[in-house]
Amino acid sequence: MFDKLRVVAQDASIRIWMEELAKVAAWPACSAGPELIDQIRALEELKAAASAAQARAAALVDSAVRRSQADAGVQKEQLGKGIGAQIGFARRESPHRGTQLLGLARILTKEMPKTLQALSGGFISEWRATILARENACLTLADRQRIDDMLAGNPAELEALGDRQLIARIKGLAYGMDPASVVNRAAKAESERFVSCRPAPDTMTYLTGLLPVAQGVEVFATLAREADRLRVAGDSRGRGQIMADTLVERITGRSKAGDVRVEVQLVMTDQTLLAGAAEPAVLPWYGVIPAQFARDLVRRKLETSGSNDGSRNSGSSGNTTTEVWLRRLFTAPSTGQLVDMDSKARLVPAGLARFIAARDQNCRMPWCGAPIRHFDHIRPWHVGGTTAANNVQGLCEACNHAKEAPGWACSVSNGEPGAGPYR
Ligand SMILES: [Zn+2]
Repeated sequence: MFDKLRVVAQDASIRIWMEELAKVAAWPACSAGPELIDQIRALEELKAAASAAQARAAALVDSAVRRSQADAGVQKEQLGKGIGAQIGFARRESPHRGTQLLGLARILTKEMPKTLQALSGGFISEWRATILARENACLTLADRQRIDDMLAGNPAELEALGDRQLIARIKGLAYGMDPASVVNRAAKAESERFVSCRPAPDTMTYLTGLLPVAQGVEVFATLAREADRLRVAGDSRGRGQIMADTLVERITGRSKAGDVRVEVQLVMTDQTLLAGAAEPAVLPWYGVIPAQFARDLVRRKLETSGSNDGSRNSGSSGNTTTEVWLRRLFTAPSTGQLVDMDSKARLVPAGLARFIAARDQNCRMPWCGAPIRHFDHIRPWHVGGTTAANNVQGLCEACNHAKEAPGWACSVSNGEPGAGPYR
């Protein structure tokens, strides 16, 4: 009880600082430019100190939860499950980011005390502390601590280094101490190659590939060469445009970059699609797109072959071949609202899964936003939870696992499912 009161008092004093900070422009000493610049520096140092306090708190949470999990009989390899997601929750970040932040907190508090001190003293930002922890992660503990001592032991020198200079200093030191580990780390990094797709402004998208350096440079050089060749031959497109078109053509195997097979999941009525209403549509792997943009994607096909719901149409329209699959997702004919549906089965049937994917769009965990991988019973099936839209949510793989960790609960409130750690 006493501890709880003390925590409330600490929270209250942080709130008082926050209220003071909101009045910063009105502070008497802050009327002139130089003082304001000093103020900005001081606030930056305060942010760093707050990050250090968060790291210490996260490490304490980690130890406490692991202890209570062990006491509750959780198996050794399961210990620590869900803690990163909980840290992410507290910081309004995704579980993935929360796990990274927890990893940083553990390294700073257990292995790199001088770096934590430099963060606490406001000499470096949380990002620079991350660089320090990340760039020497391949070394032994003893070598990491030597680097911690050499770089963070001299905070005045450390604070003068920018990101690139800091990375170069650490790499130089790490390579001198243990060249083999740097090579091994490169091999491990290669195993973490991937491709991702995320929305960009103006209905564009970033397709990103994290590749080994030789392959990445080879892909880029191939696209650049092709662009140069076509431009010399009289192609009027810009170099960047040709490179982007060539990328699409080579990967999809289609001869024209403009030919795309489109799946538009229509979370709107046919009226909206055909009569020009503004309700947006959802493009799988992308997210919300403006109604007009969705209409433009399908319009030519609709004009030539009608809007048969649930039918697959393909054919030629001008010089572009487009295949359009229209799927109407359980819209009530009178209101256009998504309507509930359920199933007697434990496994989520394909129709319901499409409905959930269209409704949730991304992992339902607050601040996560990763693509949906699992359809999860909010109230588990084995305790009577139903396979119905209001008891099934889309989650990414990590959040589905985090939710199963001890100390987590998930419920439906105001018809909205949501998960989070117990308070
Ligand atoms: Zn997630």
